[in-house]
Amino acid sequence: MNLYTANHLQPAGGARGPGNGSGSGSGPVPPSEPLYEKRQKIFPKSVKGRFRRFKWLFMVVALAIYYLTPWIRWDRGPHAPDQAVLIDLSARRFYFFFIEIWPQEFFFVAGLLVMAGLGLFLLTSAVGRAWCGYACPQTVWVDLFLAVERFIDGDRNAQIKLNASAWTFAKISKRVTKHAIWLAIAVLTGGAWIFYFADAPGLAFDFVTGQAAIVAYSTVATLTATTYILGGLMREQVCIYMCPWPRIQGAMLDEHSLVVTYNDWRGEPRSRHAKKRVAGGQSVGDCVDCDACVAVCPMGIDIRDGQQMACITCALCIDACDNVMDKIGKPRGLIAYATLDEYDGNMALATNGGQTAIEPARVRNSDGSFVDRIREFHWQVIFRTRTLIYFGIWALIGLGLVYALLTRDRLQLNVVHDRNPQFVLESDGSIRNGYTVRLLNMVPEPRTIMLSLDGLPQASMRVVGITDVPGNIVAIPAEPDKAMALRVFVTLPPDGDAKASPVRDFRFIAEDRSSHESDAYNATFNTPGGKK
Ligand code: SF4
Ligand code: SF4
Repeated sequence: MNLYTANHLQPAGGARGPGNGSGSGSGPVPPSEPLYEKRQKIFPKSVKGRFRRFKWLFMVVALAIYYLTPWIRWDRGPHAPDQAVLIDLSARRFYFFFIEIWPQEFFFVAGLLVMAGLGLFLLTSAVGRAWCGYACPQTVWVDLFLAVERFIDGDRNAQIKLNASAWTFAKISKRVTKHAIWLAIAVLTGGAWIFYFADAPGLAFDFVTGQAAIVAYSTVATLTATTYILGGLMREQVCIYMCPWPRIQGAMLDEHSLVVTYNDWRGEPRSRHAKKRVAGGQSVGDCVDCDACVAVCPMGIDIRDGQQMACITCALCIDACDNVMDKIGKPRGLIAYATLDEYDGNMALATNGGQTAIEPARVRNSDGSFVDRIREFHWQVIFRTRTLIYFGIWALIGLGLVYALLTRDRLQLNVVHDRNPQFVLESDGSIRNGYTVRLLNMVPEPRTIMLSLDGLPQASMRVVGITDVPGNIVAIPAEPDKAMALRVFVTLPPDGDAKASPVRDFRFIAEDRSSHESDAYNATFNTPGGKK
């Protein structure tokens, strides 16, 4: 089920809902309605609470990981870079602490990407758009830019006042300061990115002294511009109009997914004058219509209008409303993470199965507490069949990758037989075959690899540039962390049984006797094969 198309959760028609009309994606837009709603400037108010604290913590950790990771050193010896995380494009290597990935091992990266995708499915089906609300880079950087804005311009009311005021020196200096800090953050963001692709201290020096490659400057310029524009200027417009993820994840939620929900079954009828209404014999819900939830929303929407595509489930409205409930002595959770199943059950109770308007008395006892039939969130809904299947597949791929990582070869051998000539008949009657042997030493240390033949007892081998003395086994000095291509000639003497069959199978074997690592490659030895 797509939550955004659930009947009672349709995006509301209020002017405040930027997601209005775009969530269902059905039917042509009437000509009288503009396709793009005029942007209304949003001045989100600061809020305190558990979700806000969690978001701060997550933001600090995420930014620290992003900015600092390239500066972490990792000693791999003198023959490999000492940067812990490095995408070395020129050497075609990916270093991640003790792991080194070669191009032919790219399946590890592909596997991680598949795990990341499945992880998003798992996260979304369990806790809704938690990615959007907490971890998406757009959310994290917008949060950072908003914090700077509040620091310079003050909180919501001061910002609204400043925005409406004339262009005085004070306003201009505040604007210049704010945009300068935003730009500095944007430059640092772009700058941090390039450090993942080269030795960070060296590149930093080259960059500031004008000696870095042009691609480094253009990358930083591009990322500076995108960070500043998307995070500072466009903000919520990116989530509403540019990002495909809200459209996709609408189909990934089900009735057991947790989403930020206004529990109108206990909030309605809302009233700013509850005491007066109660004195007048009217019933009221818990919502005091203070608009605190709207004021803190970074997307500028009113969660009381129902589920909306624009809601990134940052949960700041929960904090705002909880603070209000604390003040008026009502239980927290008027806005809360809830499942559609839970909401529907409580709504049916409050409306007598949809036959009446919401009646607070149906969900409350005379002492104000909620009746026992109220459905509450249980952690078990997180561990349902769908999420367990996602988790099972995710874990299987992860275990497979770990197994492949722990058992992978660090010494690899590939052999290509010469296509032409297939064999050479020497003047003394012996037969010679030529091969290109590719030897990969995938550890960052030099080592001696013993190359030998198996299955051709009388054959000898000569390795160009290594030894001219024919033998059955040759010691190859392998450079650290390198692939080497060797020209190898294998010869069968005239008194051997070379001509017994046209093609003889044998193996090249490469072995590091100190680490006992080895690899073998099946090859063929071609002969005239009984031809006179
Ligand atoms: S409605 Fe609430 S959860 Fe949704 S974006 Fe606004 S503040 Fe965040
Ligand atoms: S913060 Fe709570 S009480 Fe205030 S308007 Fe929003 S839902 Fe109602």
